[in-house]
Amino acid sequence: MIGFLQQLVKPVQMVRLIRFFAPRGIKVSRAKGQYVWDSEGRRYLDFHTGNGAALLGHLNPYVMRRLKEQMERVTVLPPLYDSDVLEEALSALGRVLPPQLGNVFFQNSGSEAVELALKLARKRTRRRKAVAFTGSFHGRTFGALSVTFNRAYREGYDPFPFEVEFLPFNSLEDLRRIGEDVAAAIVEPVQGEGGLTPATDEFLRELERRCREVGAYLIVDEVQSGFGRTGLIWDHLRANVRPDVLVAGKSIGGGFPVSLVAVDDEIASKVEEGEHGSTHGGNPLALAAVTGGVEALISEDVPTKAHAASELLFAGLREVAAENAELVRSVKGKGLMLGLELRFNPSQAIKDLQSKGLLALKAGTTVLRFLPPYMITQEDIGWAVAKVSESLSALKASRASGRQTPAQSPV
Ligand code: PMP
Repeated sequence: MIGFLQQLVKPVQMVRLIRFFAPRGIKVSRAKGQYVWDSEGRRYLDFHTGNGAALLGHLNPYVMRRLKEQMERVTVLPPLYDSDVLEEALSALGRVLPPQLGNVFFQNSGSEAVELALKLARKRTRRRKAVAFTGSFHGRTFGALSVTFNRAYREGYDPFPFEVEFLPFNSLEDLRRIGEDVAAAIVEPVQGEGGLTPATDEFLRELERRCREVGAYLIVDEVQSGFGRTGLIWDHLRANVRPDVLVAGKSIGGGFPVSLVAVDDEIASKVEEGEHGSTHGGNPLALAAVTGGVEALISEDVPTKAHAASELLFAGLREVAAENAELVRSVKGKGLMLGLELRFNPSQAIKDLQSKGLLALKAGTTVLRFLPPYMITQEDIGWAVAKVSESLSALKASRASGRQTPAQSPV
């Protein structure tokens, strides 16, 4: 048996992070609101926001206050036990969830919440087929991945637990192909990872109608579009549709890892003992973060501010697009999930913007995506648009002089 002291003198092993993505090359030391700072004290305007999780800004004061208070009380408690923090989170959510979806279960990530939504549909309909849409992204766990379109993410993982048919996104006609063997159709009101494409209102309404007709669940995934980002608390409300299951994550706890599934009374009343569970789902800190998140959403009127900032940013990006038509196909997205569809892979532009102090990300294969927090100012927006413009001008010049890197080659 190795003694305690011997363990201490054991050579220290170098543990490395598994890199599924290339590192960004900056070391971040702190963040506040719409900004992050690197270890050398350089400030960046954050339009990446942890893949959209920090819509409420970094260290949101409402969320921080709730988290700090909770850290002094209890930080581990399964939801088998009643608690003030649970009651507070449920009552906060009562102010923002669609009225018919008054039953929630908490999870830790968007993928897990999608997983539960699919499980509910599968068991209750006893059907094995699901419908999703071209360009969809719903997560990386097996069930969520089965309804995610991108072949690169799916490759090597089949067979999936669901037989999934991907219908063309926004095609009303194709919705007729949803048959009585379909357990659920899952849709993003605005596709995020897939390329910033909003669903049309007519498409969402026809999808709802068809799901009702064949007895399939309508699952609306608002993990990225929800909680004010598009100018509405839930983007699907614009089409006046009523999902059977709503899935939310990312922003709801101000970036704290928490997600939820919301369902109506009928579904909730049929839940069976032990049918689902989660060790950390509904952790007291996550619940406190949700309460703080809802307080921020309402007190700060996040949807209205997101809408106003979006109008300004869209206007600026439209000008940039017009000046750079040979590089930019279109301006895409909705609210504060928006960007430029380029005529080439955006990696080089993302790198260049980072060197100028603006953090962005990509969507699909050609979209330069921005997911800013709601509190960006007019000044931030003007500055960001100028950086995008400079960056595209530099790309234009380097392409004109024939110095094309592989990342810039047309796709
Ligand atoms: N659904 C949508 C619409 C998403 O955008 C994402 C994450 N990008 C997910 C689900 C998965 O969320 P998570 O990464 O938290 O598992």
